[in-house]
Amino acid sequence: MPLGETIVALATPSGEAAIAAIRVSGPSSHHLVTQCLGGRSSPTPRRMTLAKYRDRAGDVIDDVMYAFFAAGASYTGEAMLEVFPHGNPFIVRRIIEDLMARGCRAAEPGEFTRTAFLNGKMDLSQAEAVAEVIRARSDFALATARKRLSGELGRRMNSLMDKHLSVLARLEAYIDFPEEDLPPETEDGPVAELRMLERELGELRHTSHYTAMLEEGVRAVILGPPNAGKSSLLNALVGGERVIVSDAPGTTRDFIEVSVVIGPYLLRLVDTAGVGPVDSEIDRRGIEKTYEQMEAADLLLMVVDSTLPCPDLPERIGGALHGAASILVENKVDLSACRERESEIATEFRCRVSALRGTGIAELKELMVSALKSEVFDNQADGIFVSVRHGDALTRAKSAVEGALDKLRHEVPTELVVSDLRAAVDAIGEIVGRVDNEAMLDRLFGEFCIGK
Ligand code: GDP
Repeated sequence: MPLGETIVALATPSGEAAIAAIRVSGPSSHHLVTQCLGGRSSPTPRRMTLAKYRDRAGDVIDDVMYAFFAAGASYTGEAMLEVFPHGNPFIVRRIIEDLMARGCRAAEPGEFTRTAFLNGKMDLSQAEAVAEVIRARSDFALATARKRLSGELGRRMNSLMDKHLSVLARLEAYIDFPEEDLPPETEDGPVAELRMLERELGELRHTSHYTAMLEEGVRAVILGPPNAGKSSLLNALVGGERVIVSDAPGTTRDFIEVSVVIGPYLLRLVDTAGVGPVDSEIDRRGIEKTYEQMEAADLLLMVVDSTLPCPDLPERIGGALHGAASILVENKVDLSACRERESEIATEFRCRVSALRGTGIAELKELMVSALKSEVFDNQADGIFVSVRHGDALTRAKSAVEGALDKLRHEVPTELVVSDLRAAVDAIGEIVGRVDNEAMLDRLFGEFCIGK
C-alpha cells in the first residue's frame, strides 16, 4: 500500500446483524475521529466510545461505537479506527461511501494483515495463521492455528536457520584459511550436524500431511460386509452432531461422505460398499473402489454383525486394519442372537454398539478420539504443523542440505557446499517471510477475506 493511504473495509459479513464492524487503517484514521465522530483531536486510544456518525453534509447516519488505535499499537501498526454501527447493510454502505468520499480507499482482501506483516507486526507464518484461525472448524485445528499465530513456527524456523548459519560460518572459515584442510573429523563436525538438520527438515515437512487433515478433516472410512450396519452407524455417528458440510449436490459419487466434528477433531466419515463375495463385474469395481478408500484412510471402522459368525476377510483388508488406526465395531448388540466372542479380526481397538438404538455410540466416539490421538497425531509431540507452502520450502531446504552432504562426501570445493547451505537458509527464510516476492504475497493474502 502506498505510504499515506488510508484503507477501509467492512470486517463482518454483509447482511443484517446486531452490529457491524468497519475497519480503517492509515494516517487519516486520526482526523476521521474528529470529522465523522465528533471526537477530540487527540482521541484516547483503545477506548470504546459512543458517538453519532455524521456524513460530510453533517447528517447523522447512525449511533455507533468506535475505538481508535494509535500508530505502533494497532493490528496493522498504523493508526486505526474501528467503527461499530448497527448491522444494517444500508447503514454500512453509507458509512463506507462517506469514508471513501473523505479519501479512504477500499481495502484489498487480506490487506490489513498484509500491512501488519509489512510493518513487522508479525512474520509470514503468523499472518497465514490468522486465516487459519478464521477457518478452523474443530478444537484441534483451532489449537494448532493458535500455536502458529503465537509465532511458534516462526521461532522454530529461526532456530533452524541459526543452526544452518553456524555450520555455514565454520565452513566459510575453511575457505578463508585453505591451508587448514577440512578436518577429517567432519564426520562428527559439520557432516553430523547437517545430517541432523536434514532429518529435522524432513520431519517438519512431513507434518504438512496433518495440516490437510486438520483443514479437510481426518478420513474415517467405514468398512464391513453388506448389512453389517455401516449406513446405520454413519447415521448414528452423525445424529445429534453438527454436520458441517455435505457433498455438493450433483456430483456423482460412489460413496456417502459426511463431515462431522467428534471431540476435538473434524472428520470426514465415508460409508463404503459392502465387502463380501464378489460375483459380478460391478461388485468387483465397487470393491476395488472400497479398497482405494480403505488405503487412503486415516482411521478405519470395521463394522461386523455380532449375531453372525466372524466374517472371512480378504487379506488386503486384514493388512489395512493392521497398518492403520482401526476400530472393530461389533454392531447389533440389541439383538438376543448377538454373541460376545474372541474376534479374529486384528484391530487396535474394539467396541460393541447398536447403531439402531444408539447404544455404545458415545463410547465409540471416545475410542475414535483416543485412536486419533494415539495413532495419528501422537508423533507430532510439539504440535507444530506446517502448511503445504511451508512443506514445499522445507523440501527445497532439505534437498539443498542433501546436496551439501553429498559434496562434502565427495570432497567437492567447500565454496559449493556453502552455496548449497545458503540456498537452504533462503528456503527456510521464505516460511517466515524473508522474501522479496510480490506475486507470492499477492497469492497468499488474496485468499483472505476482505476486512482481515
Ligand atoms: P449396511 O449394508 O452395512 O450399510 O447396513 P445397513 O445400515 O443398511 O443395515 C442393514 C440392516 O441392519 C438394516 O435393516 C438395519 O436396520 C439393520 N441394523 C443396522 N444396525 C442395527 C442394529 O444395531 N440393531 C438392529 N437390530 N438392526 C440393525
